[in-house]
Amino acid sequence: MLISHLSPDLVQSVLDALPVPVFFKNRQGVYQGCNKAFTEIMGKRSDELLGMTVYDLSPPDLAQVYFEADEALMSAGGEQRYEAQIELPSGERRDVMFYKAALKDASGQVTGLVGTLLDITERKALEMRLADLAQHDALTGLFNRRAILAYLEGLHQDRRQNLQPVCLMMIDVDHFKVINDQHGHGVGDEVLRRVSTCLKGQLREKDRVGRIGGEEFLVVLGSTDLPDAQGVAERLRQEIAALMIEGSGLSLSPTVSIGVAQSHAHEVDWAEVIGRADAGLYQAKRAGRNRVVVANQALLAPALKDWHRE
Ligand code: GH3
Ligand code: MG
Ligand code: MG
Repeated sequence: MLISHLSPDLVQSVLDALPVPVFFKNRQGVYQGCNKAFTEIMGKRSDELLGMTVYDLSPPDLAQVYFEADEALMSAGGEQRYEAQIELPSGERRDVMFYKAALKDASGQVTGLVGTLLDITERKALEMRLADLAQHDALTGLFNRRAILAYLEGLHQDRRQNLQPVCLMMIDVDHFKVINDQHGHGVGDEVLRRVSTCLKGQLREKDRVGRIGGEEFLVVLGSTDLPDAQGVAERLRQEIAALMIEGSGLSLSPTVSIGVAQSHAHEVDWAEVIGRADAGLYQAKRAGRNRVVVANQALLAPALKDWHRE
């Protein structure tokens, strides 16, 4: 049986039986009808809702979003799907997906719209948590290798417009194998956590640090030239050397070696800069460790690592 043959009361009962909110508006955006789920989510009776517009029902910032979407739908016809938020009577905001369709009369004129919405708050929170987990290293909470390299890639693309100097630091814990061998893997892990906390604490908001290998870290210093980067690296080296990892019968101070390099405006490939910072690190190790070496053009990586993988 076609729905047009049903009595209005029966149509309303059918809509009220649906768990999803449903609403209708006319071409001017005035609510013409809704189901029980919609009245419940909005905290209004249906006779209160009828005759209202989105501006009567929702806070201005949200109402504006709905109004513009409704106008776009009713001008173009067809269907529409978009993510937005709604505000519950309690003041809590929820993430929702709206599904709306333009309604037309027999001559094809748009006369209004019908809409429904799904609460996607939990799904969005889970997606954000998964995205966050995928970007961070579980042991240290720093960005993982993939995330820091992706950030660097993006930065290099931006630099075609914005020629601010960018510096990189490759940081490697000295004699870390000995720490593991002498004190156990658990202490080794604690050293990595403490070094990571120190790095995070010492860097500015706009700097980024990632763990790119077992005991290797990559720091990206935005809008920083080489002398400044060298100063930062020296400070980090000293702060880490001052750490004391203490436990039952244990007292150790890890040190790090650091290679620093600046990205040049003509470089389109960040692997070259990483290669230079790595060459600086290699020099720092050879020169006795617990030191900072600034790489320059002449200092080429002994073996440019295959950074492109992953
Ligand atoms: P160098 O001063 O030349 O850097 O020497 P090193 O001993 O620090 O370097 P090497 O590369 O020989 O050893 C790194 C060690 O780090 C070997 C590896 O087992 C250990 N390692 C890698 N990942 C982890 C981790 O997550 N936790 C712990 N505890 N150890 C790790
Ligand atoms: Mg090491
Ligand atoms: Mg290493």
